[in-house]
Amino acid sequence: MIKKFRVPFDQKIKLKDYDPDDTDEYKESGDVRDQFKEFNMRMIDLQEVMYAEKKHGLLIILQAMDAGGKDGTIKHVMRGINPQSCRVTSFKIPSDEESSHDFLWRYHKAVPPRGYVGIFNRSHYEDVLVTRVHKLISDKVAKERFNQINEFEELMTENGITILKFYLHISKSEQKARLQERLDNKDKHWKFSKNDLRERSQWDEYMDAFEDVFNNCSTKHAPWYIIPSNHKWFRNLAVAKILVQAMEDMKMSTPKPEEGLEKLVIE
Ligand code: ATP
Ligand code: MG
Repeated sequence: MIKKFRVPFDQKIKLKDYDPDDTDEYKESGDVRDQFKEFNMRMIDLQEVMYAEKKHGLLIILQAMDAGGKDGTIKHVMRGINPQSCRVTSFKIPSDEESSHDFLWRYHKAVPPRGYVGIFNRSHYEDVLVTRVHKLISDKVAKERFNQINEFEELMTENGITILKFYLHISKSEQKARLQERLDNKDKHWKFSKNDLRERSQWDEYMDAFEDVFNNCSTKHAPWYIIPSNHKWFRNLAVAKILVQAMEDMKMSTPKPEEGLEKLVIE
């Protein structure tokens, strides 16, 4: 399942070949409930070891169209994790100060230190997605940024930070249903912005921009995963599985304790 969703490093992909409705071998949420719980418990244990050992960090990057499920993924997949060692950063339109620096400045500051998990809710990829769709940058600048992003990410990984990049892939009709649901339910109005409709009208341009990102920035050190996300239960399972696998691959262990602790008795 992991390999199927990982964008290959050495060949071009077409986003239309990835089915947002895919649920692999499973039919319904009940089929994966126990497995998801196991992944979740394993992730919590591994994260504690990561915090104790402080040799590795994990940066999770989430990108999606509006209503694609970034918030839901954070809420469900990261459930139970120790808040002390985890930080979520949501990136909005850059402030004046942020825009006056190079485009990677604000992201670099938010990269987690070793021992910690960092989640980017939107990321430096906005600088080659929304900016490109709105023609704020040229294709030439986008190409330069792809290289700069790859080098930036390589720098992170060479310094002990594992990077996982997830695109939560929903269909245009699924987005319609989710946005309409937000409109139909007053309690969800706060989640809706008329701006979402403007972005939706450029759906095809976004798909082209995403495809270009995957074909230029899925690297051995920081792969992209295209997660079928029309079914939230499957999306959560796939992300959890990839996270656990990446943390297992770190081969972590808790630091060596002081000598003679097993004989100590507290009086
Ligand atoms: P929600 O799911 O709650 O709507 P959101 O991530 O969509 O969360 P919003 O405040 O609705 O948050 O939107 C943030 C907006 O900021 C998006 O439209 C996004 O494209 C834009 N944005 C983020 N980073 C950049 C950037 N580097 N340059 C330009 N626009 C950006
Ligand atoms: Mg939004």
